[in-house]
Amino acid sequence: MNTTEDTIVALATPSGIGAIGVIRLSGPDAITIAQKVWKGKDLTKQPSHTLHFGRVMDGDMELDEVVASLFVAPRSYTRENVVEISCHGSNYIIEAIIKLFIKNGARAAKAGEFTLRAFLNGQLDLSQAEAVADLIASNSKASQQIALQQLRGGFSNQLSHLREQLVQFASLIELELDFAEEDVEFANRDQLKKLIQEITKVIGSLIQSFELGNAIKNGVNTVIAGRPNAGKSTLLNALLNEERAIVSHIPGTTRDTIEEVLNIKGINFRLVDTAGIREATDTIEQIGVQRTMEKISQSALLLYVFDAAQITPEELAADLQSLQTPGVAMLVVANKIDLLSRKDGKSGSPQDESGINELLSDFRTSGLSDFIGISAKEKQHIDELKQQIYAAAIKENLSGHETLVTNIRHLEALQKTEESLVRVLDGIDGVTSDFLSMDIKQALHYLGEITGAVTTDDLLENIFSKFCIGK
Ligand code: GDP
Repeated sequence: MNTTEDTIVALATPSGIGAIGVIRLSGPDAITIAQKVWKGKDLTKQPSHTLHFGRVMDGDMELDEVVASLFVAPRSYTRENVVEISCHGSNYIIEAIIKLFIKNGARAAKAGEFTLRAFLNGQLDLSQAEAVADLIASNSKASQQIALQQLRGGFSNQLSHLREQLVQFASLIELELDFAEEDVEFANRDQLKKLIQEITKVIGSLIQSFELGNAIKNGVNTVIAGRPNAGKSTLLNALLNEERAIVSHIPGTTRDTIEEVLNIKGINFRLVDTAGIREATDTIEQIGVQRTMEKISQSALLLYVFDAAQITPEELAADLQSLQTPGVAMLVVANKIDLLSRKDGKSGSPQDESGINELLSDFRTSGLSDFIGISAKEKQHIDELKQQIYAAAIKENLSGHETLVTNIRHLEALQKTEESLVRVLDGIDGVTSDFLSMDIKQALHYLGEITGAVTTDDLLENIFSKFCIGK
C-alpha cells in the first residue's frame, strides 16, 4: 500500500476541452510545491479555505492565469494539505501544469488515491468511501439519494456502534479464558444474548434491503418472453411509448434480443425482448430460444406474454411450467384482450374488467392464478401493468428514509456476520468460552470488513482501483 508521505497530483475534472480544469494536489508538500511555480501572494502564508488568483510559471514562461483553492490539513477531503488549481480547460495547459508539479516533487495519483487517503486518515470509513464512487456513478434520483445517505454514514455508524459493544464482550470472554481454571463468568450471557439478537435483527433487515438497494443502484433485469406473435415487441414499445423494437406479424422476427431501460417510480427496469419460445425449427430461432432461457435465468423478473385470443389453456400451462425459474419472479400478461371482446361478439368495452375476466376465465385453470389482461396494440392497461411490474420486483416501497445496502461486498460481509452470529447464539449456553470467543471474533471480523475496521491491502486495492483517477 502507498504511504501518505508523498504528495500526489491529478486532474479532478474529466479530461478533454472544457471551460476550466481542476488539478488537485494533496500531501504534506502540496502547498510548498504549488508555491514553487506560483506568481502571486505567498500561498504558504495564507489561511485555509481561501481562494487566490495568480499565475503558474514554468521558469520564466507563464503557463496560465489560475485560481488556487487552499485547504490546510486537516481541514480537507484527504485531511492533508490540498491545493486545487482551476486553470483554463485546455489539454495542453492541464498536462503542462501537472508535469510541472511532478517536476517539483509531486507524483501522479493512482485511481481513487485521494479517497483512499481520506479513508486512511480517518475522514471516511470504508463504506463511506465506497459511497463516493456510487455518488459519482449515480444516474437517477433514487441512486443519488441512497449514495448520499451512505456517504453521510448510513448504516456503518449503526454497525460500528454495535460492533464496539460486541468487542467489549469479546474481551470479557477472553478474560474468562485467562481464568479458565476458576470457572468464572465475566461476560453476562443474558446480556450477550440480547446484544447478539439486536445485532442479528439489524443485520437481517440490512440483508433484506439489498434487493431494493441493488434494484435502485443497478436496475432490475427484466425479460419479456412468450410465443412468437404474442405481442412482445408491441408490448415493449407500449411500455417505452416509442417504436424501438421492430414489430411484425411474421412469427419469430425478433431474432436477437433488444435491451431498453424503463423507469418506473425511480427504478430502472432493463427490459429484454427475446425471440419467441416454441419448438424452434430453424437454427437462428433455436439459438434465440436458448438465449431466452439463458436471459431468464440471469434476470430478476420475467414478463411472460401470451396471445389471449390464440393460445389454448394447455399451451399456456406448458409454457408456464417450462418457464418457471427459481429466483425469478414471473408476471403473466394476457395480451390482445381487444380481440377477445370482439371475438365474443359482445359490444361491451374491453376496459370492462369483469368482462375481460370472464372471457379469460378459461385460463384460470392449470396453475394460472394471477395475470393481467392488456392490449399492447391499443395501449390498454399499460399503466396498471407498470404498477404490477414495480410491485413484482420491489416488495417494499421506497420511502426515502430507510438504510439500504447496495453493495455486494457489504451484502456478503453481512451474510457471513449473520452466520457467525447464529453460531454464537447457538453456543452461548453450551460451548466453552474459547469456542464462543472464536465465533464472536469471526462476527467482529466480518462486521469490521464493512466499515473498514478490518482491512487488507487486497481489499483496499480492489475497492479503490475501481475509482477514477483524480477522485
Ligand atoms: P412478438 O413476436 O411476440 O414480438 O409479437 P409482435 O409484437 O411482433 O406482434 C405480433 C402481431 O400481433 C403484430 O401484428 C402486432 O400488431 C399484433 N399485436 C400485438 N399486440 C396486440 C394487441 O394487443 N392487440 C392486437 N389486436 N394485436 C396485437
